[in-house]
Amino acid sequence: MKRILIVEDNKTLAKLLAKKIELSLKYEVDVAYKLSEAKLFLKKYTYFITLLDINLPDAPNGEVVDYVLNKGNHAIVLSATIDKEFRKKMLQKNIIDYVNKGGVDDINYIIQTIERLEKNQKHKVLLVDDSMVFRKTMKNMLENLFYKVTTVAHGEEAIGMLNTHPDFSMVITDYNMPVMNGLELTSEIRKDYNKSELCIIAISSNDNEEVNALFLKQGANDFIKKPFSKEEFSCRINNSIEALENIQFITNHANRDFLTGLYNRRYFYANMQEYIEDTKESGEQFAVAIIDIDNFKYINDTYGHDGGDKIITSVSEILRINTSYRDIVARFGGEEFCVALKNINKYSALDILERLRQEIQKFDFNVDATNQIKITISIGAALHNDDTLDETINQADMMLHNAKQNGKNQIIFN
Ligand code: GH3
Ligand code: MG
Ligand code: MG
Repeated sequence: MKRILIVEDNKTLAKLLAKKIELSLKYEVDVAYKLSEAKLFLKKYTYFITLLDINLPDAPNGEVVDYVLNKGNHAIVLSATIDKEFRKKMLQKNIIDYVNKGGVDDINYIIQTIERLEKNQKHKVLLVDDSMVFRKTMKNMLENLFYKVTTVAHGEEAIGMLNTHPDFSMVITDYNMPVMNGLELTSEIRKDYNKSELCIIAISSNDNEEVNALFLKQGANDFIKKPFSKEEFSCRINNSIEALENIQFITNHANRDFLTGLYNRRYFYANMQEYIEDTKESGEQFAVAIIDIDNFKYINDTYGHDGGDKIITSVSEILRINTSYRDIVARFGGEEFCVALKNINKYSALDILERLRQEIQKFDFNVDATNQIKITISIGAALHNDDTLDETINQADMMLHNAKQNGKNQIIFN
């Protein structure tokens, strides 16, 4: 389990903070009341974050901050008084943030900050700047916020990097660069990635007002004017990443079925229409299978609706495990699923569907705490040729009907 170290001589506050963090974040928390105690903890453990009071009995002038940073730790500084002088002094150090340690709101702010840092670890940021000095400074700031950072020196290199590594969450780009400037890069990136997939932050200089507006028009999410404070930089970057996460959360929910987490009918159609469009030239084939649980009404009647739901969820899991990540497995409603097997011929498709049928047949399904049952599925399938998606689905549906008529627990492939 990850650990957090609190160094704070106000024992009441330290304990309150530790308790709050343990409760809401599930971290192991160590509390030191003096620098000398903190040193012992730091010898023993590695910490995700340290929270440091700058005024300690044996370190009255923030000595703990330098000590902890020199040991390669990440620090958030706590202070009772935050004035201009203090802020300036603290921002010169490589700390993550400084926090007022007054009331409950401040404790909540600390917890939110730690949660933010935790999530930042899974975001990759591509930093595009032709100045090596700037690249290094910004990389440092971003890594201090726990982002995974890749740096490149110009726009063309950035495009190349995105082509081979499409999983970046954010691109931060300078304006003035040789070959391709930041504006050109922004509009180039927006041809392939929309705002719900990737955020773009532009770094521009103060003396070029119209460039900022142009950046936003080309699709940048935000811009930061040079020279900027570390604080503004952190806030703007974190805000944009948070907005991206929110959009992705909502999009994901709109595309998925609530009970099983499988894709829903809406997403199935949207994804497959796009796929058909993309593969028009190559003439790639795919198969559609409609899968329906046999005698499901009997299961519901015998074990209740909850038992039925458990079966639907387990079947979903088996369908997902036994298909490729490229394929689409959707719940069309009730105990009926639709699977699209992409880039496949009839014989391979039959192989996969037969495996699905067998996996379901041999699985022991839990319907409640004490009962396990066996179930079967029927499958109707069709290969997509020149017809429309709806026609292919209808054919698969008719085959399913035949499979049911023919005694269930079987596949009929058109
Ligand atoms: P067949 O073998 O011909 O497919 O018969 P069946 O009993 O499986 O099919 P039928 O379509 O007659 O019954 C499906 C039942 O599924 C009826 C409906 O009440 C139930 N059902 C629909 N949605 C859900 C759900 O989300 N959860 C549960 N537990 N049951 C559902
Ligand atoms: Mg059924
Ligand atoms: Mg049915």
